[in-house]
Amino acid sequence: MQRYAHRNLHVLERQLERCTTPIKLIVTDAVFSMDGDIADLPELLALADRFDAWLVVDDAHGLGVLGEQGRGTLSHFGLCSERFICMGTLGKAAGIGGAFVAAHPTVIEWLLQTARSYIYTTAAPPAIAHALRESLRLMRGDEGDQRRRQLQQRVQLLRDQLAALIAAQPQPGWRLADSHAAIQPLIVGDNAGALALSAALEREGLWVPAIRPPTVPLGTARLRITLSAAHSVDDVQRLSEALARTVQALR
Ligand SMILES: *Cc1c(COP(=O)(O)O)cnc(C)c1O
Repeated sequence: MQRYAHRNLHVLERQLERCTTPIKLIVTDAVFSMDGDIADLPELLALADRFDAWLVVDDAHGLGVLGEQGRGTLSHFGLCSERFICMGTLGKAAGIGGAFVAAHPTVIEWLLQTARSYIYTTAAPPAIAHALRESLRLMRGDEGDQRRRQLQQRVQLLRDQLAALIAAQPQPGWRLADSHAAIQPLIVGDNAGALALSAALEREGLWVPAIRPPTVPLGTARLRITLSAAHSVDDVQRLSEALARTVQALR
């Protein structure tokens, strides 16, 4: 297993050039879970084609949110290939639990026969399957489009308000991540600062976890703000105002 730096496809390309194993897998988040940015899947697929590799895509944060009818990040990019091993989780936008893999029949058969979490385990109950069909119906239809629009509006509102806050009360090391997804990290830098902010927000009834290394790179501790279509304009406003108050109090 070899790692490449975040979205650094030049390094990945060199690693693939040197790789001599007959079966290669490139593994990536689609929407990165701690930054909210999106993997360059068209370029990754081009590399997978060139080096005859499978491309494993974890679309936990794209499913239901991105692409036509909320079909996810592959749909967002209009990509289709037998090389994809696309994993979606059902505990996020689908609101249930569990996950799925969509891939070439060879891959699916191999998972059925060998995946440790699958063997000797009772299948998901019919009630979950039924709930999932309802989630998919919501995602696909007008209601889904409406919720996705609402989510984008809340994301934009929050970004505008946080940018204004940072401009009005600059704090060393603070910045917004380059994200247009539901995950909107406010990077603050040091661990103690992130924890103090998170605790102060919790006292105001706002649940915004502090994420620290090694989950994120050293010196980039952050508040991981996650929006949903169910958040109101008032909710976003309340968070921005609480943050502004907290920044003043911590000075
Ligand atoms: C949440 C998450 C998972 C796990 O999903 P669960 O439904 O909680 O098991 C996997 N990958 C990514 C990128 C996630 O954000």
